[in-house]
Amino acid sequence: MDASDLAARVIAGDRRALARAITVVESTRGADRAAALVLAGAAAATGRQALRIGLSGAPGVGKSSLVETLGLMLTARGLRLAVLAVDPSSVRGGGAILGDKTRMERLARDPRAFIRPSPGQAGHGGIARRTRDAVLLCEAAGFDVVLVETVGVGQSETLVAEVTDLFVLMLAPGAGDDLQGVKRGIMERADLILVNKADGGQEAAAERTRSDHAAALRLMRPRPADPEGGPQVLCVSALEGKGLPEAWDAMTALADWRRERGHFAARRKAQARAWFEAEVREELLARLTARPDLRRAMVEVGAAVEAGEISPDQGVARIVGMLP
Ligand code: GDP
Repeated sequence: MDASDLAARVIAGDRRALARAITVVESTRGADRAAALVLAGAAAATGRQALRIGLSGAPGVGKSSLVETLGLMLTARGLRLAVLAVDPSSVRGGGAILGDKTRMERLARDPRAFIRPSPGQAGHGGIARRTRDAVLLCEAAGFDVVLVETVGVGQSETLVAEVTDLFVLMLAPGAGDDLQGVKRGIMERADLILVNKADGGQEAAAERTRSDHAAALRLMRPRPADPEGGPQVLCVSALEGKGLPEAWDAMTALADWRRERGHFAARRKAQARAWFEAEVREELLARLTARPDLRRAMVEVGAAVEAGEISPDQGVARIVGMLP
């Protein structure tokens, strides 16, 4: 089947075609990327727009549980939901999140849901590109909501925030007054914070965590794309489903607020531009490192810099001098 057949089937909502299309974009680059481009083109042609939600939080905070419970709530309301997983640790051959299907068992059987585990290996093209392409494909397939879940390690939160419309950060109750080792940069990117596990006697602890983080957020610089008062912090229980209708309302209300004021479109435009620039950088670098003389020079000049024979600046000048 050629790329345009595959694209047509994706647009028709064929989930097997969607899974296959994602595999294509995960495993190809360069010339084969034509396939992905056709698919992305198809996505643009449909004019479909899903609400793209990023979800991050430390392992064990309850992300999968939330995706399952919230996901079932949304599909029961008639919405179609795609769930994509991003797991940078899987690059090194570790276990992929969502890999064992005991997680999100019920959602996985739901005909309105599509769950895509994180690939076991990076393949070509990098995590960022594969995630972006997969999001686009899910959107072309007509899903109303595309949820991108990531484990809270490394650069993955940043990546997820860069491919989604709303970035949701999950926390667990407790851990004293400190901000649970959540890096400030991540807090600054959050559009909504959910304190999970507000159940079974942990309600008061969850509420303390909620108010601590709400206070911390108020001290941060206001962002133009936020309504007055900044990002909300809500208590939820993924286990019991408590607070999830409110959490969903907060997400859709924020998305609507941003749509009305142009922030929603502006974020996507900025993402598209950043995507383009990153691709150009990556492609240029790939072409340069494909030149054996440059690769050799990097090693030799690098050694000379290390030995103190020339300065780093002189080394840069030598490499740049080799460029066309
Ligand atoms: P993830 O690693 O962030 O995806 O976390 P999981 O969804 O796998 O949950 C980790 C553990 O926390 C599991 O044992 C869940 O049963 C438990 N858990 C998840 N959500 C809740 C919740 O709302 N309340 C309670 N009490 N436990 C929860």
